[in-house]
Amino acid sequence: MLYRVIDAAELPALVDAFMERYEVIAPVRSGRSFAFEAVGSFDDIVLDYPTTITSPKKYVLPPRETLFEFDAAANEVADFVEEVTPRVIFGVHACDINALNSLDLVFRDARYPDPYYAARRDATMVVGISCTPSEGCFCHLVDADEARTGYDLFLQDIGGRYLVSIGSVEAANILEGACNPREATDEDRIAFRHATRRRQASFNPDIPNIQEVPMLMDAFHSDPFWEELGGRCLSCTACSSVCPTCYCFDIRDTMDPDGVHGLRERTWDACTSPQFAVVAGGHNFRADGRNRVRHRMYHKLNGFMAAHDRNLCVGCGRCVYACKAGISPIEVLRFFERKGADDAD
Ligand code: SF4
Ligand code: SF4
Repeated sequence: MLYRVIDAAELPALVDAFMERYEVIAPVRSGRSFAFEAVGSFDDIVLDYPTTITSPKKYVLPPRETLFEFDAAANEVADFVEEVTPRVIFGVHACDINALNSLDLVFRDARYPDPYYAARRDATMVVGISCTPSEGCFCHLVDADEARTGYDLFLQDIGGRYLVSIGSVEAANILEGACNPREATDEDRIAFRHATRRRQASFNPDIPNIQEVPMLMDAFHSDPFWEELGGRCLSCTACSSVCPTCYCFDIRDTMDPDGVHGLRERTWDACTSPQFAVVAGGHNFRADGRNRVRHRMYHKLNGFMAAHDRNLCVGCGRCVYACKAGISPIEVLRFFERKGADDAD
């Protein structure tokens, strides 16, 4: 990995250089919260945001998109070619970069890549930035507090300057043209070490660090805990909407009034929706809240790990705030902590 250092005062020039060639998406203030939006000026960007309401996911996997149009009379499908906007998503935290990396495994790097996702992702540059954990963050417990891949640049604030990790040639050239990057000195490396330690010390110590969560999920699959958790679920699907790694979708055909032309659309869906597992004939494989909430938690903390050797939950904490019923992976970690205490009795 190549490292350079730039002064904080050079960031506006870097953003301006990106804006010359790309649409720049960055965190901005949205009411009392923060959101990723297209920006027209560096001054709109808030870099010391705690977390955004939703993640950058919508820029690679939109909530609704047309897959193709069809002509039912002629029995023809027209290829749908969407214009892909070259983008830079600027100021992305490590958890959200890891989330994009997981989405890549599913949609781009899989045996059968999704052409819609892959086209958008390949046209998207990612500039990461270091963060200070908020109360609901637990990325360090799911191995997502550091982004090792998946970015073009990563900016680590080391006090009045940034240690920049360079992940792509294209981004390196833009950095070189817009700023005066210099080699990192020993003093910079020490400042980086201090910044990393400060960050590690600021995670919420009340969130339990549980080892072997996937194994515990299997061991406690039938515990009444899931009944209690599922019984509280309101089926609002807010958790999936805000989650940077929820990727379930539905496919729908919509006909024009002429009954001939139509289009096929993909929309976000959620496994916490009561209709999600309904199949032809009306049977619902996950008819109650217990099964739905348990399924979501298992996919986040167990199933994806088995398939891809990484947690699907990146510990961003968004569902911790979004769920009005107080359901989140933290509750699952606390349950295992209580179980550990029970075993010790
Ligand atoms: S499950 Fe919750 S904490 Fe984990 S990645 Fe999704 S929104 Fe973030
Ligand atoms: S777990 Fe919470 S946020 Fe998710 S559907 Fe249930 S009530 Fe809504």
